[in-house]
Amino acid sequence: MNLKDKTFKRVSHVVLTSHANQIYKDVPKVKWGEKDPEVRGPIIATISDKDHRNAIGTHSGSYTVYRALSIASGHFPKSHRPELANTEGTYRVKPNPSWFDPQKIVTLDPFGADINLHFKKYLDEGFNIKPSIAVTQAHLHIPEVQEAVKNGRLKVDGKVVKEDGSIKCTKVALEPVWNLPEIAKRFNLEEGELRKVLFQETGGMFPELVTRPDLKILLPPIGSSTAYIFGDPDDLQNPDVELTCRVHDECNGSDVFGSDICTCRPYLTWGIEDAARTAQKGGVGLIVYYRKEGRALGEVTKFLVYNARKRQEGGDSAKNYFYRTECVAGVQDARFQEFMPDVLHYLGVQKIHNLHSMSNMKYDAIVGSGIEVVNRLSIPAELIPEDAQVEIEAKKAAGYFTDEEIKDEAGLQKVQGRELDE
Ligand SMILES: [Zn+2]
Repeated sequence: MNLKDKTFKRVSHVVLTSHANQIYKDVPKVKWGEKDPEVRGPIIATISDKDHRNAIGTHSGSYTVYRALSIASGHFPKSHRPELANTEGTYRVKPNPSWFDPQKIVTLDPFGADINLHFKKYLDEGFNIKPSIAVTQAHLHIPEVQEAVKNGRLKVDGKVVKEDGSIKCTKVALEPVWNLPEIAKRFNLEEGELRKVLFQETGGMFPELVTRPDLKILLPPIGSSTAYIFGDPDDLQNPDVELTCRVHDECNGSDVFGSDICTCRPYLTWGIEDAARTAQKGGVGLIVYYRKEGRALGEVTKFLVYNARKRQEGGDSAKNYFYRTECVAGVQDARFQEFMPDVLHYLGVQKIHNLHSMSNMKYDAIVGSGIEVVNRLSIPAELIPEDAQVEIEAKKAAGYFTDEEIKDEAGLQKVQGRELDE
């Protein structure tokens, strides 16, 4: 489509919300951590309800940019209000004490689902509120899980595992809703400094970060998280019910396409298999999937690192694994696991009996946030792809959790990955 052909008209200047006459007095206040949702107040980040906005940014995470594009191209009515009839969740996450502790959950809105229930008064008054959390059901068809059913590791019970080898689950999608003052506290930063750097380092994307200190909530244009629950979701809140959990950071190349340079997909599918098994024996399983591709550095950086690893002198070895990432990206890891447990607290998790992860950063963040972890499980050796030995040995040597032997420097040098076929 030729954009010039459209009769889309817009004034050439941008009105900054820093203008005093754009601070509206009848905007609902947000009192983060308040128990009564009417007192806590709704998060209003819809653009079509500009006069009532009490947050910076808008819904849909990174997809908000596509929404802008579809409006610019004339495909999307700018004044659209979501019709929410029949969109209610298939399960309602029960409020729990973490919802009302302003420091426990700082990157999502615990009242983001069921807005008809929580904010009826505001909706009746005409405020345009949009959910930031949605809950539905799914049947997962995963080849590795089908294999587990075939060879008897996982049994068909007709409830969790269906006759066709699929797994039934509840899934919860969660958009990021950040409470800036509390996020600053987790980083030991001044709120003003955090806001300034967020503004500067996104190329000045949200001027309100620096011009509207009265707005404390930011819906950042980043990826969301999804929780997959196996068994009865209510059991997540009961520390006496065995919980098997994996907190998984996105790795599209491995998770979806089966690339063998890392252990991400085997970890994920093994976690799902074990979560289902726990649900079958009366426990509950939970996989939380975070869109934090390439240690939150992105896929372009990740592929550059792969090439640098493979081409370096002496070849791709476990010895230089972390060093190469830091050379290219500037940091080894940009994931900030400090925020990761927020989803667990939203769901009411108090105790994880089996944590599928070898990451100390994840473990420390979970335990540091007040959740008890009983067993830590690393991936069975037979599930590690050959080319991923470099990653796994480097991680073990760097102090990641393992029951197995840790190689010394000479041993790490010997763990070599496949060469590039150039
Ligand atoms: Zn991976």
